[in-house]
Amino acid sequence: MSEAAFPIPANERERLNVLADYNIMDSLPEQAYDDFVKLASAICGTPIALISLLDKDRQWFKADFGLGVSETPRSQAFCAHAIMKPDDVMTVEDATADERFATNPLVTGDPHIRFYAGAPLVAPTGEALGTICVIDRQPRTLSETQREALAILSREIIVQLELRRSIETLEQAVLDQEKYVELLQEYQRDIEKVRVHLESQSVTDVLTGVKNRRSFDMTLDEECMRARTRGSTLSLIMIDVDLFKAFNDIHGHPAGDEVLRGVARLLQSELRVSDSLFRYGGEEFAVVLPETTCKGAFVLGERFRRAVQRAPWPKRPISISIGVAATDADTTSPQDLLQAADRALYQAKQSGRNRVVMASGDG
Ligand code: GH3
Ligand code: MG
Ligand code: MG
Repeated sequence: MSEAAFPIPANERERLNVLADYNIMDSLPEQAYDDFVKLASAICGTPIALISLLDKDRQWFKADFGLGVSETPRSQAFCAHAIMKPDDVMTVEDATADERFATNPLVTGDPHIRFYAGAPLVAPTGEALGTICVIDRQPRTLSETQREALAILSREIIVQLELRRSIETLEQAVLDQEKYVELLQEYQRDIEKVRVHLESQSVTDVLTGVKNRRSFDMTLDEECMRARTRGSTLSLIMIDVDLFKAFNDIHGHPAGDEVLRGVARLLQSELRVSDSLFRYGGEEFAVVLPETTCKGAFVLGERFRRAVQRAPWPKRPISISIGVAATDADTTSPQDLLQAADRALYQAKQSGRNRVVMASGDG
């Protein structure tokens, strides 16, 4: 037969698929397989023993005892012939006397094979993937027991290959699971980000960026309750931009929006950390001041008023009027406080605008 040719099993395509599925070709040496070839060599009394796996065009040795080569072309492989009969241990007592192998470079040259015996490695689905084989440099025979032992080893190698694949599958499953857990955690982080964003949006006024009316109502309720339980004073400042309708009428709504943003910025910059600024609605703002007396709130209100009055407004000067109220024996509920501050604000408007008025106890 010609050097390039080798026999091809009828199930070659499935055979190659099954072999690939074991994911063993070109893997690193492993103790278990090295042990098998050592054992085969010892049992059969040969200087060389191999586990050979037959790829499309080559034989690759998963384990090599005594040869020192990692692969050969399939055309030179004795094992290529051995796998043609998956149930038999193929024995070549003298390769020089066998027309299939007499001119084989492995016979005529290094390693000068004379004797070969190979037991096919047969997958559970019937495909012969390669062999465990023993080789000698002189002609010889195997006893029936040795032949039987080689067949047993071939079956054990398949068990080992199956086990190896199961472990790889399991390891992959663990890795996949970890990846999914990571992915899940990433989703949860994204959801949390969206939640925090939505939450902040639901309490933020879009135009000015300060807290909105919804947030004001909640805060005033909470702070009133807290002031009551602690017996402390809570103050409220209501702020209204003066003559703002006229501003809008003359300079337009967009310019008016700019003013509202500017006022919010100025108020924010005068705020203490314990206080919260809200857009109450329209051109009205509110500041909630826990643990603050009416006088204290008045002082802060004055600072607000001055800051707005002094700011360099592009169209015309802007001013604000302010009403200040604090909780006391008669003023305890959020509604009471709001009403008192509103009344004070009304008085500020009535008495000429651009001023701060404290709510008097008798309204
Ligand atoms: P006063 O000094 O008595 O408060 O006079 P005023 O004109 O400010 O009072 P009024 O309540 O009559 O007008 C408030 C105006 O505020 C009406 C409206 O044009 C304006 N306004 C309310 N919300 C907005 C807003 O979001 N953007 C703008 N540009 N203007 C607003
Ligand atoms: Mg108003
Ligand atoms: Mg106004």
